[in-house]
Amino acid sequence: MPHNHPESAERPRDFIREIVAADVAAGLHGGRVHTRFPPEPNGYLHIGHAKSICLNFGIAREFGGKCNLRFDDTNPATEETEYVDAIQDDIRWLGFEWDELHFASDYFDQLYEWACVLINKGLAYVDSQTLEEIRSQRGTLTEPGRESPHRNRSPGENLDLFQRMKAGEFPDGAHVLRAKIDMASAHLIMRDPVMYRIRHAPHHRTGDKWCIYPMYDFTHGQSDAIEKVTHSICTLEFENHHPLYDWFIENLEIFPSQQYEFARLNLTYTVMSKRKLLELVRENRVTGWDDPRMPTLCGLRRRGYTPEAIRNLCAQVGVTKFNSLTDMVVLENALRNDLNKRAERRMAVLRPLKVVITNYPDGETEQLEAINNPEDESAGKRSVPFSKVLYIERDDFMEDPPKKFFRLGPGREVRLRYAYFITCQEAIKDDSGEIVELHCTYDPATRGGDAPDGRKVKGTLHWVSAEHALDAEVRLYDHLLKVESLGDVGEDEDWKDALNPNSLETLTGCKLEPSLADVQPGTSIQFERLGYFTPDSVDHTADKPVFNRSVTLKDAWAKIQKKQG
Ligand code: ATP
Ligand code: MG
Repeated sequence: MPHNHPESAERPRDFIREIVAADVAAGLHGGRVHTRFPPEPNGYLHIGHAKSICLNFGIAREFGGKCNLRFDDTNPATEETEYVDAIQDDIRWLGFEWDELHFASDYFDQLYEWACVLINKGLAYVDSQTLEEIRSQRGTLTEPGRESPHRNRSPGENLDLFQRMKAGEFPDGAHVLRAKIDMASAHLIMRDPVMYRIRHAPHHRTGDKWCIYPMYDFTHGQSDAIEKVTHSICTLEFENHHPLYDWFIENLEIFPSQQYEFARLNLTYTVMSKRKLLELVRENRVTGWDDPRMPTLCGLRRRGYTPEAIRNLCAQVGVTKFNSLTDMVVLENALRNDLNKRAERRMAVLRPLKVVITNYPDGETEQLEAINNPEDESAGKRSVPFSKVLYIERDDFMEDPPKKFFRLGPGREVRLRYAYFITCQEAIKDDSGEIVELHCTYDPATRGGDAPDGRKVKGTLHWVSAEHALDAEVRLYDHLLKVESLGDVGEDEDWKDALNPNSLETLTGCKLEPSLADVQPGTSIQFERLGYFTPDSVDHTADKPVFNRSVTLKDAWAKIQKKQG
């Protein structure tokens, strides 16, 4: 097992695990560890969320603690049940199970009561200004804010107004409830933040019961406290909110959950924001949240990514306090490493060129033995049919090959994997001059792929027998973005101009070896020399196979071509 495996004991501890370990050692909360993963159900989970899931569920597992799944569903406008269901599927697929399932919306009654507690303590007030006005009084890092003219309303008046807000007496925007903290605080978040706003909108769980909804800051810490979460782990953008998180907990005198912040995962050549991903879906730039080009967990799954590869990526990038950009290659390599050990090998030809073995008997078929996985002897062997007419990859023949091209050319000899040495005698062209078929001869003495006289060939090609081949569609994917990061896109440009127009290439008429007929979605296969592939979970059928390329292998020839410019 590589030492960066998440379950590995040798993995160095990150700063959050150090804190948790120290708290456990000190007997804080009786040595109990309780974390939570708190998605807002306003989109599908992406690979960034996987980092948070691995961290929260991983810590609970490693310290014998618990991890809750809590839907942070306080914004009625953007949240849907579809997302709630998909998020649960994705977490389970990634290999984690929550101890308790909660919805922040289940705490609306409790939160309302706590808001009244703060009003009675003189620590919250109803402001009747617009959000615009409130924003304009906030001040800057160098200038204090200005106090609202309603700041000194009495607790009685505030309570009355707040109850009437809840009763639905006022339209959206007429009032907000604000915490009364310090308009001159060095922390902008502490300048009387909004706790509640009026929204006459039905909620996916509470229906029409509420027309006031608590803000994130008045929900999150209290939800943690209600669930007695010990370590509330979130991403760095919430560092600013930290003092407010503590302030509500202290002033409500509730369970002292503690917040810790770590850096988000960012990957090159993709986007990691639900808002932007939703834009792609709505505008049909992709086929849906599960489009194999999407960085969503359902997209990656459909593409052929495994939970192991994603967990390994998360373990490998680690947990720090510094924002950084991880190269997509790291994710791709995590998948290659995983599938190299597990995926069986098969032969498939994506861009077929017909080869006729002129000295092979007509109408004969023989079964040749092929190894399913050289990395795993227990995967066994299979037989592959060989006959007079075959397909090879169009790229594997060049009429006038340069020096380092070790594949087929006129008069050259190569090995057909698991089969024979063949020599190209003639390239047959159509009227337009395009090569339509090769005439080759084979050496019967080389059956199995070795010459008894010890003669060597430099190239080994994959192939499929024409008569036995399955026809298939194969989808090849490239990066979603043509730029490394949206940071490279100017302010006044549409970020969608950075989408890679060549992110999908669909090939039809591909030829598969017949044993691929039985492969089901969810199984990964290495097509020899071409990469790892999986049947498309939506469009694949036995009659009309559709395979997605999950990731390429490393291609030596492409590298040489690049070097030669
Ligand atoms: P987005 O910005 O993509 O909409 P979000 O932060 O709004 O994401 P939430 O549903 O609020 O999405 O996130 C749930 C949890 O996942 C939060 O604790 C959040 O910090 C964490 N998370 C979101 N994106 C990332 C990321 N890229 N890397 C690590 N953790 C993330
Ligand atoms: Mg969010």
